[in-house]
Amino acid sequence: MKKTIKDVDLKNKVVLMRVDFNVPMKDGVITDVNRIVQALPTIEYAIEHDAKVVLLSHLGRVKEEADKAKNSLAPVAKKLEELSGHKVVFVNKTRGEEVENAIKAMAPRDIVMLENTRFEDLDGKKESKNDPELGKYWASLGEVFVNDAFGTAHRAAASNVGIASNIKDTVAGFLMEKEIKFIGGAVDSPVRPFVAILGGAKVSDKISVIESLIKKADKILICGAMAYTFYKALGYEVGTSKCELDFVDFAKGLLEKANGRIVLPLDTVVAKEFDENAESIVVDSDKIPSDMMGLDIGPKTLELFKKQLEGAKTVVWNGPAGVFEFEKFAKGTNGICKILAELKGAITIIGGGDSAAAAIKLGYEDKFTHISTGGGASLEYLEGKVLPGIDCINDKKCTCGHCGND
Ligand code: ADP
Ligand code: MG
Repeated sequence: MKKTIKDVDLKNKVVLMRVDFNVPMKDGVITDVNRIVQALPTIEYAIEHDAKVVLLSHLGRVKEEADKAKNSLAPVAKKLEELSGHKVVFVNKTRGEEVENAIKAMAPRDIVMLENTRFEDLDGKKESKNDPELGKYWASLGEVFVNDAFGTAHRAAASNVGIASNIKDTVAGFLMEKEIKFIGGAVDSPVRPFVAILGGAKVSDKISVIESLIKKADKILICGAMAYTFYKALGYEVGTSKCELDFVDFAKGLLEKANGRIVLPLDTVVAKEFDENAESIVVDSDKIPSDMMGLDIGPKTLELFKKQLEGAKTVVWNGPAGVFEFEKFAKGTNGICKILAELKGAITIIGGGDSAAAAIKLGYEDKFTHISTGGGASLEYLEGKVLPGIDCINDKKCTCGHCGND
């Protein structure tokens, strides 16, 4: 068990908080404030407990001087002020006197935000490569470190692992705590039956996830373009569908290993072109015409998946069922959202950037137990990897007496 912000005394302390403010921007305007909104509960908790809150985050990539202007956190500081109702003092530096003076001048309940941590990447990738001096410097500015940036937890940077290595108390924020509880919980000790739904673009992107989940899940439902590589493994015609010939043998091996626990779609929606208005028909999985491509799962598959999910207690879903970006081919993804939304007594978790975006776009944001905020991080977590940004958080002794963490 990891310590959380609730396990440390914050009163009058300078609390360094690594948040994920890597928001999408267009021409200096934030196009989606979700990441800022998601960070508010942890910030609010720290303020309520009389902390001096110093926020650190990266934004985009900073490879050359010219990247600085478009990746400044200044607009984010403004937006945070608006959304939180608190004054935010923005320092357009990542180190030095101005930073130190701004922190010295803080009273409890104040918020200071530093400039994009990746501005330090211009000089030898100090942030991204976890330069030991930089982590030590940032750690020296505060007394407690709260890591709430799950989205970057799969990479060791100066602003997560670097600070944690140089400060006594490193704890999780509420967002991080939720990711650990749900994704970590599903991977480590799922309440069974545990069903995984895997879709998306490629088998090759998801090899480690499939291999990890096949060991743990009671069933794996395959959908998305990934299904066609499995069809090919069964010797079916896949037409012009997205299919990875180099991974057909891998898929064959998985089908053997899974011993019937892998469930493939029964039917598929096919079209001649990859187009949002393409004319489409539904065919059985083994009847894909040679000049057509599969772009979604069909209604029989949704019925089958619904049956397979009956009684499930934990469901992890990664990868859309079809090309959901086109409304016409979003029915499968929408159908799975609906089935999971109506599933009673189950923990339902979405991991993966596009899958989360699909569920939110289709209006199911509040219908899941947890929609992960990390793309790459949630995938690596589902793979069963130890994420450095989580690993660096201090452990908490458990008092339950039977989990072994005491
Ligand atoms: P995630 O980001 O959730 O891990 P992926 O990146 O693996 O998911 O896959 C998402 C992409 O898969 C989407 O852009 C979607 O259009 C695509 N996709 C799903 N089904 C198909 C299909 N049948 N043919 C082509 N692309 C597909
Ligand atoms: Mg993706």
